[in-house]
Amino acid sequence: MLISQLLKKKGDDVATIAPSDSIADVVRALATRRVGALVVSADGTTVEGIISERDIVRDLAAQGSDTINRTAGDLMTAEVVTCALDATTEQLMAEMTARRIRHVPVTENGALVGIISIGDVVNARVHELEIETEQLSNYISGY
Ligand code: AMP
Repeated sequence: MLISQLLKKKGDDVATIAPSDSIADVVRALATRRVGALVVSADGTTVEGIISERDIVRDLAAQGSDTINRTAGDLMTAEVVTCALDATTEQLMAEMTARRIRHVPVTENGALVGIISIGDVVNARVHELEIETEQLSNYISGY
């Protein structure tokens, strides 16, 4: 399945945070938006980084309570793996597995147009495989 098709179903909403926002703001946004990662962007469309729960846990382990006073820009991963709308769920699954990441922002002409989580690609693949199985089963039983 194409990422453009998947985004049509799940929508183009992306939870973002400005690089200057504090980790306290990041934690609040992760909790209220019920997501595991935020795209770091000052204008909401240019991807400057990504910050996930793991970045906060790692920093907490190293710095303790000082983490809460740091900013999204301090803890984010600046080299972000993104994908285009014509990428496929299979490609994204392979990329996420190889790089051990669970979130991939989708961009078009440099602008943020969506985000795909590992849950989204797994759900899409399971759905595709269910349809394939049903078609094969119908074919074998002559329907
Ligand atoms: P996650 O699996 O999304 O919780 O993230 C695990 C680690 O990979 C964290 O350090 C994230 O900042 C980083 N990360 C998550 N998604 C991406 C991405 N698309 N590109 C680069 N790094 C990422």
